[in-house]
Amino acid sequence: MSEATVIDGKAFAAKVREGVAGEVAALKAARGVVPGLAVVLVGDDPASQVYVRGKGKATLEAGMESFTFRMAGTSSHDEVLARVEALNADPRVNGVLVQLPLPGQIDERAIVDAVDPAKDVDGFHVVNTGRLATGLDATVPCTPLGCQLLLRDRLGADGLKGAEAVVVGRSNIVGKPMAQLLLRDHCTVTVAHSRTKDLPAVVRRADIVVAAAGRPEMVRGDWIKPGATVIDVGINRIERGDGKTRLVGDVRFDEAVKVAGAVTPVPGGVGPMTIACLLANTVAAARRQHGAPEPD
Ligand code: NAD
Repeated sequence: MSEATVIDGKAFAAKVREGVAGEVAALKAARGVVPGLAVVLVGDDPASQVYVRGKGKATLEAGMESFTFRMAGTSSHDEVLARVEALNADPRVNGVLVQLPLPGQIDERAIVDAVDPAKDVDGFHVVNTGRLATGLDATVPCTPLGCQLLLRDRLGADGLKGAEAVVVGRSNIVGKPMAQLLLRDHCTVTVAHSRTKDLPAVVRRADIVVAAAGRPEMVRGDWIKPGATVIDVGINRIERGDGKTRLVGDVRFDEAVKVAGAVTPVPGGVGPMTIACLLANTVAAARRQHGAPEPD
């Protein structure tokens, strides 16, 4: 059997970002509006700092304004809340993102729900979650949105219709919204998680597998139905054996590539799509806030 197609998320994300930059330019030309994204980072978690720097850089590259607010890890709940409320009221800011996780003294759910739903470009606000679940227009969380775009590109609308999809992981930021998007695309969806019995047998049924468990290389080649499309959301850093580390997904790539029809690599698969979709969500929020029409 021939090897799977390796889905190039980096190249696809570059196309999405180019489209966003075009939309930003059009919004500026038609209405004099430059979309702005504000990111709030509380504390000095190294991974969060890398993500926040990456988001700021990508925002500027798309021609948008980037505002980064770094707050001490000892900040109180009320201080973070006050920052979010100030950004909600700031007309230069169209998107507000609070980098998670937040330090323990802060009520994360309350902060996420304090963001104006119209500026909630992460799509984590309960209003956007509810709108997605009930089939209304909603801002969709960036990582599952990126996975959906890759799946549609690979399979086309008809390829998703009626397909058996298994999502491994039920988090609010990946697994659950991913399941909602697959339902919207008419898949038959199973959400598996840490208590699922006989996970390999469940995954083996799937035409589409989305692995988002945060377990390095857990999904093995013999779990995958021949020809299936495999989207690997996991980002796990593991020891390489020579004192250095490397990134791996939740799927054992070298095995999956021999069985699947298509598979995303880690890195270079879903990761770049997440930032591209954040930019897309921000320009869409700016457009809606200014009453500008959807692009063709
Ligand atoms: P999470 O820890 O919040 O949720 C993990 C989910 O996986 C849980 O629902 C849990 O039930 C399930 N799970 C855990 N162990 C399992 C097992 N042995 N078998 C079956 N299910 C199991 O994680 P998350 O925030 O949803 O992220 C998941 C992974 O995706 C992580 O590796 C994370 O780093 C990665 N991630 C990547 C991106 C990206 O841009 N590519 C974005 C967000 C998260």
